[in-house]
Amino acid sequence: MTEEELQRLREQIKDVTGKIISLAAERNRLAKEIGRIKSERGLQVEDEGAELVLERYVISLCRESGLDERTGLKILHTLIEESKAVQGRTQSKQRITPMTMAAKARKLISEGRDVVRLDVGEPDFGPPKEVVEECIRALNLGKTKYTDTRGIPALISALQNYLESKHRYSTQGENLLVTPGGRFAIFAALSAIVREGESVLIIEPCWPAYRENIDFAGAKAISVRTEIEEGWSPNMEELQGSITETTRAIIISYPSNPTGKIIDRSTFRAIIEIAKDKKITVISDEIYNDYAYTDCPSILDFDVENFVLTSSFSKTWAMTGFRVGYAVSSREIIEKMYRVMALAVTCVPEFIQYGAIKALGSEQDARKNSEIMRRRIEMAYSEISRIDQLQTYKPDGAMYLFPVSKDEKFDSDNFAETLLERKGVAVSPGTGFGDYRRAFRISLGQKEEKIVEGIKKIGELLS
Ligand code: PMP
Repeated sequence: MTEEELQRLREQIKDVTGKIISLAAERNRLAKEIGRIKSERGLQVEDEGAELVLERYVISLCRESGLDERTGLKILHTLIEESKAVQGRTQSKQRITPMTMAAKARKLISEGRDVVRLDVGEPDFGPPKEVVEECIRALNLGKTKYTDTRGIPALISALQNYLESKHRYSTQGENLLVTPGGRFAIFAALSAIVREGESVLIIEPCWPAYRENIDFAGAKAISVRTEIEEGWSPNMEELQGSITETTRAIIISYPSNPTGKIIDRSTFRAIIEIAKDKKITVISDEIYNDYAYTDCPSILDFDVENFVLTSSFSKTWAMTGFRVGYAVSSREIIEKMYRVMALAVTCVPEFIQYGAIKALGSEQDARKNSEIMRRRIEMAYSEISRIDQLQTYKPDGAMYLFPVSKDEKFDSDNFAETLLERKGVAVSPGTGFGDYRRAFRISLGQKEEKIVEGIKKIGELLS
């Protein structure tokens, strides 16, 4: 190719780029006009139906023109975000999540207030003694270096044995990744699977970080709403109907944070079958799997290839501050998650990984912790049931209650703030877990007396 040819092609590229920019400006002018009409008619800036029509159109254009669909959707996503910006989308109100509630509670405590902490999802009890001892031993032995991003071979092999004995699931080391907690496993899984402009199904109410991570990836969270009246069970037709051409994954997590719901095996199987049919990945967050008081299916019990299991040492062994969890998936997905992890954190600290090996062998501690939560659920459920203004699902597992007010006008953000200020009790408003302004979450990571005291004060404020 001659220099002139190269020059000519560069000029053409510049010309096409110029056209794209002029068209983007033209598009923004049209969007502004639409925004004006919407505001005259009192309509919202966000319009999911209109976005869906555009997505379908872009996908069909990509198919015709040979442009990669993911690239087309990425461009569309950028254009839609631009439209929303010129239409003056006001930043939606900051959601109050358990994390923000915890910060408020800590501030009050630092000012000398006595606060009953029913907000944060963290067990009050400590890690197994032998885990602490092992970490110290490892430190003294100089286990203070970088390790393979995947995790030390001894922990990988301990995880293989653990999964084999717990779920009768045999897996290869290449299907495992040790992560800094379950939170990072979710982040890495979504980073591996989803691109800008695509979408992920979540079943609400659910842990706020799913939506936050999906947003961060530039993707769209599609919510399948569940209701207390239906025992927090997802409706399968609705779930199936919510999957669009852009959907790449569904996140499920049972026992659920915040409701304590566990879906039965046939429902679990139905979700897997839908996902198989639609060729989307099932991300199953099984962090509360050991706090289960009815039959609790795991994704590992089913014949499914396209999945990611995420789990953690945080709840089972009360090791929240150790920051260690893991993921199980196909070699291809683990490889991508590995790259995200290598890029962002290198590895979980070496001495912590030695502690984690000890935890996997501490079956007795896992059982003891689970038993404590079971007792607390029984006790807290019977206490909350005395409050007439609330309706509560009796949890099948996890470590929370998610009462729903019978008052149509109940505002959980106001309630949580008033409860904290007037009664010194911290809970998490339902709005943090989806559009649930009539609900709030009570965490049972506190001693029984504190839980009883907190629930009593909730009753007082409501009466
Ligand atoms: N998943 C769920 C449902 C959770 O509630 C939490 C913690 N609250 C996590 C994952 C993450 O926990 P960690 O990062 O400590 O493992």
